[in-house]
Amino acid sequence: MRIHHHVSIILFVAIAGAIGLALAVGLLLGGLERAAQETGRVSEQYHQVRMLLTDGQELLETINTLTSDSAQDSFVIMNHAIERSVLGLARFHHSSLLVEAQPVEQALDALETMTEQSRKLVLSRASGLPLVDELERLRANAAMYMTRLDQVETAAGLAIGKQDQVLVQRRKLIMLIIGLICVVYLAAMERVRHWTTRRLILPVQKLASAAMKAMEGEESFPRLEQGTTEELNTLARVLSSFVETLKSRVRERTAQVERQKEHLEREVAVRRQAEEQLRHAAFHDKLTGLCNRDLLLDRLERCIERARRNDDYKFSVLFLDVDRFKEVNDSLGHFVGDQLLVAIADRLQRCLRSSDTLARVESNTIARIGGDEFVVLLDGIKARSDASVVAQRIQEVLAEPFHLNGHEVFTSASIGIAFNEIECDKADHLLRDADTAMYHAKAAGKARHEVFNKQMHAEAMSRLELGNDLRRAVENQELGIAYQPIICLKTGRLTGFEGLARWEHPQRGIISPVKFIAHAEETGLIVQLGEWVLQQACQQLRAWQEQLPRDRSLSVSVNVSKRQVAEPGFVEVVQQVLNSTGIDGRDLKLEITETVIMENPDSIAEVLRRLKELGVEIHMDDFGTGYSSLSYLHRFPLDVLKIDRAFVGTMSANDDYADVVHTVVSLAHTLNMQVTVEGVETLDQLVKLMAVGCDYGQGYYFAEPMDAEAAKKIISSEPQWLKSAA
Ligand code: C2E
Ligand code: CA
Ligand code: CA
Repeated sequence: MRIHHHVSIILFVAIAGAIGLALAVGLLLGGLERAAQETGRVSEQYHQVRMLLTDGQELLETINTLTSDSAQDSFVIMNHAIERSVLGLARFHHSSLLVEAQPVEQALDALETMTEQSRKLVLSRASGLPLVDELERLRANAAMYMTRLDQVETAAGLAIGKQDQVLVQRRKLIMLIIGLICVVYLAAMERVRHWTTRRLILPVQKLASAAMKAMEGEESFPRLEQGTTEELNTLARVLSSFVETLKSRVRERTAQVERQKEHLEREVAVRRQAEEQLRHAAFHDKLTGLCNRDLLLDRLERCIERARRNDDYKFSVLFLDVDRFKEVNDSLGHFVGDQLLVAIADRLQRCLRSSDTLARVESNTIARIGGDEFVVLLDGIKARSDASVVAQRIQEVLAEPFHLNGHEVFTSASIGIAFNEIECDKADHLLRDADTAMYHAKAAGKARHEVFNKQMHAEAMSRLELGNDLRRAVENQELGIAYQPIICLKTGRLTGFEGLARWEHPQRGIISPVKFIAHAEETGLIVQLGEWVLQQACQQLRAWQEQLPRDRSLSVSVNVSKRQVAEPGFVEVVQQVLNSTGIDGRDLKLEITETVIMENPDSIAEVLRRLKELGVEIHMDDFGTGYSSLSYLHRFPLDVLKIDRAFVGTMSANDDYADVVHTVVSLAHTLNMQVTVEGVETLDQLVKLMAVGCDYGQGYYFAEPMDAEAAKKIISSEPQWLKSAA
């Protein structure tokens, strides 16, 4: 059945029930109305009886008052009164429906008798006949009449009572019937409700809850009971297949999501790994795998923060610089240099791991923060001496030879130690302090450690000031040049001068180039400074050549730092100086050190070749202090080897060195190079050097560096320097 059939049935039952109820109530009310009318008539008749009684009473009294002597008129009046009563009673009798007829008829009989008697009385009175008996009979009849009337009244009273009873009963009946109809109607409606609930509402609820459960994951969708409407059956079928579709879609989606999740997880893992690698790369040194500067600073900050909160906490920073690393790098190549750094890192790690003096071994940090600079952060030491013990141990492990790529390499380290005790609240300051201490260890002879103190800081500050002052001095051209004669050892004559930078500081007095040149190299100021010296020296040479013409040539030697040579326009600068001063390229000698060549051999070869094209001579300065072999250096266009003064110094004490110098000189000569010795201080040295065939000499024995004025005098006096030697 369809829903609208259900609705029609419900409506029909409701409307039919309501109409039936209304009809029944109407009918019953009509009956009640009729009963009430009946009751009204009965009570009206009772009222008439009461009036007849009153009239009868009066009549009886009238009759009783009549005597034989009473006037004729009184009899006539009485006669009329009787006739009125007859009329009244007859009307009553005629209209009476309810009262018993018998007493009324008896009363009427009594009245008719009285009428007869009264007429006779009137006639008798008129004819003067005796009246007494007649009157007596009339009175008896009147009494009879009253008795009958009383009976009528009683009957009327009974009728009223009966009628009232009927009315009450009818009312009760009506109430009963209405009540019954209501009950039936309610029962019918209840049936309808029950039916509707069972057929419509319950199935809908069941469908709803089944749908909910299906959504929550219940497996099967229930079937509806038989007898539900077609629409609900359809709805159930649709819902069931809808739920099935939904479930299969959910399954599909879940599988899809699962797959995506797996994919995402894989991606996240890959990304995490990449991030991890990136993070590692960001905070670690590529070559050694140690922490880098950033990570070190971060850990240092944490240590400082911790020390701030905890007075008992101590930590220490060891700044380590590999001694003579450059030389290894330059002589054995970058590959071996890198291997050495890795090996050092490895030894540092092992050394720290096995260090039993340290409580918190795992939290120590080893970092590489520059080419050959390492930093060890000792996190949580018990006493200051711990740091020195560790430094000592590091030096011991580094003293063992390294075997790298077939070479046996010896190295050492200079270590600076700083503690967090000295009011230091910044990581880079602490690092700077350790660096300063390291610098002192280096200056004090390398392969040792120094603990930072305030004095060092003051010195570092003064170095910093020196740097600023130097910049100003270079910019304002406050520097000067000293000239040291170079003598030809074959002729004993002056061949030229080496120009040496000089700086007379307004407060500090004369500052050695050993100090300020190194600083200028660090800051890059050397490029400007070197250019100035070159320009100045060439200018001076030109002036001397013009002022003091001589038959043999006069040259000037200028020191060139590696940073200058690395500068892209260096050759152009030299050419420009030659052009502007007008000196011959052959009169300019540029002194470079081994490290200049070793740093970047290929590009330097090109620079040297181009300088040679200008006619400029290239002199190898400080020869003998580096690692490079003469046969290697021969590949470069070098004209002169300048044997380092350290050699000459030791030569006088040890004859072996004289042999070495001899070998070097012979080799140089076979390789088409000449030899200059510097640092010649004594005649003895000079004699030995001349004996082994050195070509040129320079040193205090001949003359100390001097100003241009003094140099000029020497040029003009043309001294013979080898008189004593000869
Ligand atoms: P250098 O090039 O080896 O210069 C020779 C140094 O030895 C000079 O020191 C000179 O005064 C000193 N000397 C000369 N004869 C003797 C001697 O008989 N005994 C001793 N003990 N020393 C002697 P100076 O002038 O102090 O220069 C030191 C270094 O500074 C130079 O060493 C050079 O490397 C560098 N330098 C000086 N001027 C310049 C410059 O203009 N440019 C560059 N790049 N470096 C310069
Ligand atoms: Ca030099
Ligand atoms: Ca030198």
